[in-house]
Amino acid sequence: MFQGLMQHHPLMISSILEFAERWYPNVEVVSRTTEGPIHRYNYQQMGRRARCIADALAKLGIEPGDRVGTLAWNGYRHMELYFGVSGSGAVLHTVNPRLFAEQLIYVIDHAGDKVIFTDLTFVPLLEGLADQLPNIEHFVIMTDRENMPQTKLKNVLCYEELLEQGDENYQWPEFDETAASSICYTSGTTGNPKGVVYSHRSSLIHALGASVPNGLGLSGNDSILLVVPQFHVNSWGVTYAAPMNGCKLVLPGPAMDGASIHQLLDEEKCTLSLAVPTIWMMLTGFLRESGATLPHMKRVVIGGSAVPEAMIRSFEQDYDVSVIHAWGMTETSPLGTLNFLMPHLQDLDYEAQLPIKLKQGKSVFGIDIRIVDDENKVLPHDGVAFGKLQARGHWVTSGYFNDDSQDPVADDNWFDTGDVATIDHDGYMMITDRTKDVIKSGGEWISSIELENMAVGHSAIAEAAVIAIPHPKWDERPLVVAVKEKGATIEKQELLDHLATGLAKWQIPNDVVFVDELPHGATGKLNKLQLRLDFSDYQFPDA
Ligand code: ADP
Repeated sequence: MFQGLMQHHPLMISSILEFAERWYPNVEVVSRTTEGPIHRYNYQQMGRRARCIADALAKLGIEPGDRVGTLAWNGYRHMELYFGVSGSGAVLHTVNPRLFAEQLIYVIDHAGDKVIFTDLTFVPLLEGLADQLPNIEHFVIMTDRENMPQTKLKNVLCYEELLEQGDENYQWPEFDETAASSICYTSGTTGNPKGVVYSHRSSLIHALGASVPNGLGLSGNDSILLVVPQFHVNSWGVTYAAPMNGCKLVLPGPAMDGASIHQLLDEEKCTLSLAVPTIWMMLTGFLRESGATLPHMKRVVIGGSAVPEAMIRSFEQDYDVSVIHAWGMTETSPLGTLNFLMPHLQDLDYEAQLPIKLKQGKSVFGIDIRIVDDENKVLPHDGVAFGKLQARGHWVTSGYFNDDSQDPVADDNWFDTGDVATIDHDGYMMITDRTKDVIKSGGEWISSIELENMAVGHSAIAEAAVIAIPHPKWDERPLVVAVKEKGATIEKQELLDHLATGLAKWQIPNDVVFVDELPHGATGKLNKLQLRLDFSDYQFPDA
């Protein structure tokens, strides 16, 4: 091979912060703290403190490859750990504090965390678990001396005091770019949490890929409110992409309600924000009630679950904010596809654009997707054929941490996402279901998501889940489990009649059960695994 004569530098996460510190030193990072007040500083100060914490960790005995856990909201100290831990060669394990106690113990133990950094909020939670976490050498409480709580935790350190032990002249080490940088566990809606291990290389390329105009289109003109948690796939990679682009970064801490989110969007003149639909539901509710507007916001990125049509309309038509619908998962770092309209679609009127905006979008360079049938035969991009969605690329997992029970990339590095999708002529992918949730009735597939969307389309239904129930004749048939809107009255038959208007006869669910609430997992998503357990004894009236 005739070699190029260009320099080779390993792609290091520390280089992102070094860049921001050097070229965007005065760009602000604003945090709502757990202690209460708003904290402001800039990338130069973040860089200095991240070096201090990296050095302090080394003095504490943390070596390259060691795992360091965090239980923390989005905030400046969490950012310092993102760079301080990974930059030093140790591995950041961002633990999702919303996991159940057994899952928390499982992931902390499975990852092999040596130290846990915790926000004040989660000290009581850790006190309850500490006996079952014998390998943790230190608990570092992310606050200053003044705000240190009384705690039963042993081996407790104060973040600010630890940081003071570090040397700001610490030099970021350079090492193999394929070394692990962070670990994030899948939320376990489909079984035991599984550890996805990102590398310096994958995280850096993902951040570049996320930044491009067909991605999030980031620039130094952006002020980003990062609502998606840092414990959820590195805030969708924006913890790295924001400093890489010199964006102002606004971190909301524990306050996710509509009023608090709006206050930051407004006061910090945010142009872009990212979160799951539940958060945006709270914000649009607040805007409707208060009459407040979003004068600075240009784009809102919504992903994690499908975006309801009403939400797209509301943002775009009522508040003049463009919606970027995105799909991804822990195993894909997470960005897989993003929805932006190609020029020939921009000429369509708004009503004709909406069905396209509801799709999850197109691949960005760096990750490829395909749909296949049960025999792994590749299906056409015709918008009709639907099959298992697979992904492959620079930031897609090649296997789970310490788990040989399955090979998720058996077929030539194509990772099975567990989603079912169509891809249309223009390359827009649309999720129609999760593989495990699809209802297989008499050899035909029925999309549970389609039925759920139709059910919540009825004004008396607040939330609905559709699950497969075994059926003697058809294998499986759909059951709707629904929560009524507060004060609404609706009977089973009325909902079935409503569903019948848009479905073929064989797709109409066999029954409806009304419940007070549906089970949700740690990321706020419907927990169908639990729901299936709850309904494991259920039998259709006609079966
Ligand atoms: P888990 O599989 O444990 O829920 P993630 O939190 O990584 O893990 O969620 C990834 C899944 O979320 C995807 O596989 C997909 O089913 C769903 N998802 C993500 N974004 C979207 C979206 N825009 N529309 C529909 N589903 C989505």
